Amino acid sequence: ALTIGIVGLPNVGKSTLFNALTKNDVLAANYPFATIEPNVGVVSLPDPRLTQLAEIFGSERILPATVSFVDIAGIVRGASEGEGLGNQFLANIREADAIAQVVRGFTDDDVVHVEGGVNPKNDLETINAELQLADLQTLERAIPRIEKEVRGKKSDPSVLEAATAARDALERGVLLSHSDLDLSPIRELGLLTAKPYIYVFNVDEAILTDAAAKASLEELVAPAKAVFLDAKIESELIDLDPEDAAELLASTGQEESGLDQLARIGFDTLGLQTYLTAGPKESRAWTIGKGWKAPQAAGVIHTDFEKGFIKAEVISFDDLIEAGSVLDARAKGKARLEGKDYVMQDGDVVEFRFNV
Ligand code: GDP
Repeated sequence: ALTIGIVGLPNVGKSTLFNALTKNDVLAANYPFATIEPNVGVVSLPDPRLTQLAEIFGSERILPATVSFVDIAGIVRGASEGEGLGNQFLANIREADAIAQVVRGFTDDDVVHVEGGVNPKNDLETINAELQLADLQTLERAIPRIEKEVRGKKSDPSVLEAATAARDALERGVLLSHSDLDLSPIRELGLLTAKPYIYVFNVDEAILTDAAAKASLEELVAPAKAVFLDAKIESELIDLDPEDAAELLASTGQEESGLDQLARIGFDTLGLQTYLTAGPKESRAWTIGKGWKAPQAAGVIHTDFEKGFIKAEVISFDDLIEAGSVLDARAKGKARLEGKDYVMQDGDVVEFRFNV
């Protein structure tokens, strides 16, 4: 499964946030046989369409799509030189598909700031510098090996070109994810700054409704996306029943919890979308990549669905709601039979036809 690694300086609220993420464990609730790892938190992608589908189909349960978060032990200044948990940290972060960097924006004199004062800009620079240094080290180690491989015709020259271009960009202080370099030839190096980033600002409650303050923080990280939350409120929300949680959220001026935002933006950052299936047993969202075709999407349910794929009956969610049932949607000509070249659209409600 795709995972997002959570990083950040010590004392920025990672554990507080992560506890909320693990308490909210939809895997434990919905997938009793799934293996749950202690450092992985799973959140569901909020999707009100599933509730509507469950009503139409009389589904017994709802299974939303999920996003997994991995807690990556704290980064400190000097991590790329093996300080603290440096090397283990780098190994864990390399395996994540995207990075969520938690940045402290809250003030609290009882919580020490490791860099001497609350300063989001400074913290971002500290962490990004460590990640850039780590990537530079990786490249400086790899380039002589790649040169040898290219000379021996074991590697394509494009690999060396991509590696040297990435090194040059890092030396100029560029985060690779912000460059327009084609890094696909060196994907196996697992470069950290080439991953998609999300920035999570853990702020005081007052900032949550302060558009100007949020805009200036957003500016620090653009074009990457920013999520604003108060980790302490998140950990309270998770213990409340839905109505009380909604009330607390409203009292802080938010429409959506930070965890929900994180799931939604994480999903998008990873280039994912969902399609839907529904029946009396369950209404369910399935995770696929943007641009996937019908047979590949069917394979997410079962490999046999992909191998034996014949057709997909597709009704777009809005058409189905308007028609009120599958039979009515068919009668109105809104149910399409799509073949193997059909590119899935977000919110397609699908039934696959396949040979066994
Ligand atoms: P980590 O080192 O990044 O994992 O940080 P922790 O989650 O352990 O948080 C460090 C301290 O800051 C703890 O005492 C938390 O209770 C406190 N803390 C975390 N988030 C917030 C917040 O949003 N506001 C305030 N005032 N304190 C927080």
